Amino acid sequence: MLAQLLAVPATPLALFVFLTISGLLLYFGLSGLSYLVFFVLGRARFHPTYVSDWSANRRAMRLGAIGTFGNVVLVMPIHLLIAHGKSKVYWNVSDHGVPYLLASIAIYLAFTETCIYWIHRFLHTDLGYRTLHRHHHEWRSTSSWVSMAFHPLDSFMQALPHHAIGFLLPIHGAVYLTMVSFVSVWAVMIHDRVSFVRARWLNNTGHHTLHHWLYRYNYGQYFTWWDRAMGTWRDPAAAEQNGEVPEGLLR
Ligand SMILES: [Zn+2]
Ligand SMILES: [Zn+2]
Repeated sequence: MLAQLLAVPATPLALFVFLTISGLLLYFGLSGLSYLVFFVLGRARFHPTYVSDWSANRRAMRLGAIGTFGNVVLVMPIHLLIAHGKSKVYWNVSDHGVPYLLASIAIYLAFTETCIYWIHRFLHTDLGYRTLHRHHHEWRSTSSWVSMAFHPLDSFMQALPHHAIGFLLPIHGAVYLTMVSFVSVWAVMIHDRVSFVRARWLNNTGHHTLHHWLYRYNYGQYFTWWDRAMGTWRDPAAAEQNGEVPEGLLR
């Protein structure tokens, strides 16, 4: 859709080139900036015990690039369908009105939150973990480079609800673009191990850092509702107090 706004021709080749370049720029740009700020320039303040491991970082970058590339291939049919007007994405707010626009944002968040919680639970079953998700969990202590280091099918499954909703109910184009872009920013934020917001209802960085360390808790996307309802929520502060995580892991 961004391709449409930028007048990229809706052909498979043009879309493929555009999505690959923008995906790689997004991954290396955002993760690189985050790594530079929190793990290099601000290391003394944010991660004083961090020892840079370039072999681990290189593996994360390689998987991040492969994941991005594979994802572009997998989402191509969806982007082509959107580019050819087959989705329910609309551009004039007046088509459905402001109350609908606000309601659709709430439904969007509830729908993606629910789908992603359960997809993530599946990814932690023996089958999902062994075949796909173990790649992302290679890094028990994360850095910014892990943000998009997934098997392509893993990240595609977790991105699918964001694309599917545009075919299920009318979604304003700006809402769709904002949500799809923000989820990439969020992925970087929850892997840098620096929590600026520690609200318990938000699946913040501390929650996801704990997810990587203990595996069995905090599967949500943005919120902890489903984790609390299903008994998979774990408070990072409590885990730290109990000595279940190494010193300096959570910031
Ligand atoms: Zn996981
Ligand atoms: Zn992660």
